[in-house]
Amino acid sequence: MIIDVDCLPQEGLQICKDFEVLNAEIVEEDAVFLSPLHVELSIKKSGDNVFIKGQITTNISFVCSRCLAPYEFPVDSAFDLICIPEELDVVKEQLEEEDLGQLFYHHRKIDLREIVLEQLNLIFPLKPVCSEDCHGICPVCGKRIQDGQCSCVSNVSDPRLEKLKKFLREKR
Ligand SMILES: [Zn+2]
Ligand SMILES: [Zn+2]
Repeated sequence: MIIDVDCLPQEGLQICKDFEVLNAEIVEEDAVFLSPLHVELSIKKSGDNVFIKGQITTNISFVCSRCLAPYEFPVDSAFDLICIPEELDVVKEQLEEEDLGQLFYHHRKIDLREIVLEQLNLIFPLKPVCSEDCHGICPVCGKRIQDGQCSCVSNVSDPRLEKLKKFLREKR
């Protein structure tokens, strides 16, 4: 969805739209969208600068990187950007130092889909975890540790480690 900066109405533009997202376009390729990617945008022009306020809402299913169970990740996130023409090199240098919420547009066009996807990817966790205290899976039987402690954990011990423990105990 591409808008032409010169065709933006003076009073601004309101867009309310569901976007289709391909898994190749997001950082977590095994994420599943449980509801559409709903986006509300408010676009206003001032001179050559275009101000975009947006709200992204959706519900995504991620796979926990520790226990491998799927879990829901509700998204309700706002962003605020200034888009300025790439030709203004002076402004570019000033802004780069002060403000991260700015982008450059090229050839008088702004690709809203690209902006939305970028904002969505910024929200994604670097390593998805179902909860901060997820203990993952037992390395022996593969059972989720939250589902109750399995019997194998305490039974397994390394004979070399036992020797070392004994040695350390005696030393004390
Ligand atoms: Zn987990
Ligand atoms: Zn186990």
